[in-house]
Amino acid sequence: MIVEMRVGTTPEEIDGVVQKAKALGLGVQLNLGTNKTVVAILGSNTGQLTTDIFAVLPGVESVTRIMKPYKLASRGFKAEDSLVSVEGIEIGGRRVVVMAGPCAVESEEQVMQAARVVKEAGACILRGGAFKPRTSPFSFQGLEKVGLELLARAGHQWGLPVVTEVVDPHDVGLVSRYAALLQIGSRNMQNFALLTAAGRSRCPVVLKRGFSCTVTEWLTAADYLLSGGNSQVILCERGIRTFEDSTRFSLDISSIPVIKRFSHLPVIVDPSHAAGHRSLVPAMAKGAVAAGADGLLIEVHPNPEEALVDGLQSLTPSDFARLMDELRSVAKSVGRYI
Ligand code: PEP
Ligand code: MN
Repeated sequence: MIVEMRVGTTPEEIDGVVQKAKALGLGVQLNLGTNKTVVAILGSNTGQLTTDIFAVLPGVESVTRIMKPYKLASRGFKAEDSLVSVEGIEIGGRRVVVMAGPCAVESEEQVMQAARVVKEAGACILRGGAFKPRTSPFSFQGLEKVGLELLARAGHQWGLPVVTEVVDPHDVGLVSRYAALLQIGSRNMQNFALLTAAGRSRCPVVLKRGFSCTVTEWLTAADYLLSGGNSQVILCERGIRTFEDSTRFSLDISSIPVIKRFSHLPVIVDPSHAAGHRSLVPAMAKGAVAAGADGLLIEVHPNPEEALVDGLQSLTPSDFARLMDELRSVAKSVGRYI
């Protein structure tokens, strides 16, 4: 349930709503907007309560039942777009934020070179996996802590904040000591222990869409992060599994306007994992920006043919530089910049 307070409501009136919810055993979360305060009433049994319980309280403008399972991620709770700040880089504003780098951190030389090429081409966040969630236990699993150190060093050297994946709830503290942005991968979108741990952190999180999950399930997963008190949440569309097998996954471009309609959270797109082949990545990246994505997460490798992971879908440095030039004009045509 969403309780919208009147403009100019007093702190006592807001507290009246909070106390009423607490007395009913319900949780609350406040959105103290510039004009208006909105109180989300959280609990599994709000469906059985009449909205009048809150509508009659002083200072209440209206009470709306949210029929969707997600609340805190909804536009009903927060009408204005959320901005997420990653070491001063704002995501969700007019700038389209490009995050790029190798799928996995493989060596100091590889990640340093990757950082240099993505920086020179105009990316502003460096990506690189240190903990890799691999389908097979026999595949390269990442350099783990050493990988975090190498990634952070490369980011520091080239003035780029870093984004990297966390796969274990116990590693949220460790990974956030190195990363400016935590990535929760597609295979872990509904790993509720991991979401809960990342929700307790104050490190910004990029939540990738599970490749078999609906937008509603994705936003409900985001509620785990938001309800833990972490308001710094970015969504990432990375393709879903369909009957189509000419690409690795099917990039669901429609999820961008759908997210913009139903949620206040920024949404970025990873064309690399959706495409599965580097020849397809540029068109998908440009399409995403044209459709309103707030950023891109792109795999770039200094030497894709030698990559230990995802070489086929990784752009070469020169492909990436060319794409960045093309993206600048696409961004401009939709009133944004890179
Ligand atoms: C990745 O970004 O390297 C990755 C594993 O992505 P996803 O979780 O989308 O498969
Ligand atoms: Mn990858």
